[in-house]
Amino acid sequence: MGQSLAVMAPQPTETVDTATPPPTAVELTGAIARIREYLEREKPATPCLVIDLATIRERYQQLAAAFDGAGLYYAVKANPAREVVRLLVELGARFDVASPPEIDLCLAEGARPEHISYGNTIKKRADIGYAYARGVRLFTTDSDTDLETIAEMAPGASVFCRIVLADTGSLTPFGHKFGCAPDLATRLLARAPELGLTPAGVSFHVGSQQLDPRAWDAAIEQAGEITAKLAAEGVELGMLNIGGGLPGNYTRPAPPLADFATAITASVERHFAAPPRLVLEPGRFLVSDAGLLRSEVVLVSRKSTVDDKRWVYLDVGRYNGLAETENEYITYLLATPRQENSGSEGETGPVYLAGPTCDGDDVLYQHNVYRLPMSLRPGDALDFLNTGAYTASYSSIAFNGFAPLPTHCI
Ligand SMILES: *Cc1c(COP(=O)(O)O)cnc(C)c1O
Repeated sequence: MGQSLAVMAPQPTETVDTATPPPTAVELTGAIARIREYLEREKPATPCLVIDLATIRERYQQLAAAFDGAGLYYAVKANPAREVVRLLVELGARFDVASPPEIDLCLAEGARPEHISYGNTIKKRADIGYAYARGVRLFTTDSDTDLETIAEMAPGASVFCRIVLADTGSLTPFGHKFGCAPDLATRLLARAPELGLTPAGVSFHVGSQQLDPRAWDAAIEQAGEITAKLAAEGVELGMLNIGGGLPGNYTRPAPPLADFATAITASVERHFAAPPRLVLEPGRFLVSDAGLLRSEVVLVSRKSTVDDKRWVYLDVGRYNGLAETENEYITYLLATPRQENSGSEGETGPVYLAGPTCDGDDVLYQHNVYRLPMSLRPGDALDFLNTGAYTASYSSIAFNGFAPLPTHCI
C-alpha cells in the first residue's frame, strides 16, 4: 500500500492545460499493480496489451450507478477482445456495433440480439439484412437513403437519428462525417412511422476523450427541441442516445465520473419536458484504464553530434497498436520498469518516440516532448499506461511484417 509508480508525460506544451498539470506518479494499485505482476510472472513477448478485467467490471458498475436506469451499450470497437465482451454480457451490458462481424462477436459471447444496437450510420444494404436476420432491431441513421434501406431490410425496426454537432472540443473529434442537421433529423424521425419504423429518439456523439462535462449540453438542448417539435406533431420519442465520449486517463487527467453524470442529468432535466430513457454508448471509459501496453526499446540514437534529443525507437508504433498517437491527439503516460528497479530514473533527457516500421509517419511523439531516463537502452521495457481502448483494435495485420498487437486478459 502507498506504493507509487513514477510516470512520464510530455513537458507542458500549448496542448496541455497547465491548470491540470500531468501527473508525475500514479498509485501502484489496481489494474497497474495486477498487470505488472502478470508481466513479471509470465514475461510475454512484446509488444503486448494486458487487460485487467476487474477494472472493466468496476468501471461498468460505476457507470450503471451514475446513470441509474440508462441503457449502457458498449461500443465494441474500443476493445473487441472476446473476454471483454463476455464479461460485459455477464454484467448485463448492451452493445453498440458497426458491422456484421461485431454482431457475430457479441452473439457468440452470449449477448441477446435485442441488446445490440447497430450504431453505424454507414451500412450496406446486405449488412442491414444480415443484422435483421440475426435479430437486431435497433439502428442509427442520418439520411433518407439509409432510412429507406432500413425500412426495406429491417421492417419494423427502431431508429435513432444522429445529429451532427459543432466543434465540441474533444481530443479526437469526429468532424462532419456523421449526423445531420436538426431540421433534417426532425423530418427523418417523422418519416420513420410512415415507413413502418419506430422512431426511438435523437442520438449524437460529442467526440471521444471529451474532458469537458458541459460538452453534452448543447446537443441535449437540440435533441430536446427536436423531441418537443415531434411530440407536437404526434410523434413520440421515448429515448435519448447521448453516445460515447467519457474519457480515460492520459496526460490530462479525466474529471471524476460524477461531474459528467451531474452535468448530463441536469441538462436532460432542463431540456426535456418528460424524462426520456437514456442510452449511453461508452467505449473508452470502460476499457482505457484497464489496459497496459508493454513495449521494448529497439534502438536509442542521435541524429547529430550536437542534438540534445535522442530518438527512441520501440517495437510498437502507429501500425501495431498506437494509432491514436496520430496528430499526437492522445499522449499516454509512460513508465520505465528497469529504471524503477535500479532507482536510476532520476536523470532524464528529451526524446522523440517512434515505431519500428519503415514508414516516415510511424512516429509517436515529436511535438510533445517526453523526458526519459538517460540510461534507457535497447532491450529495456517501456510501458504505455491506460491503453485498453483503441489500441489492439486499430492494429494492422502485418504492415512490414509486424504482427498485430496481442491482447492478454487477466
Ligand atoms: C466509437 C463510438 C462510440 C464510443 O465512443 P467513446 O468515446 O470511446 O466512448 C460510441 N458511439 C458511436 C456511434 C461510436 O462510433
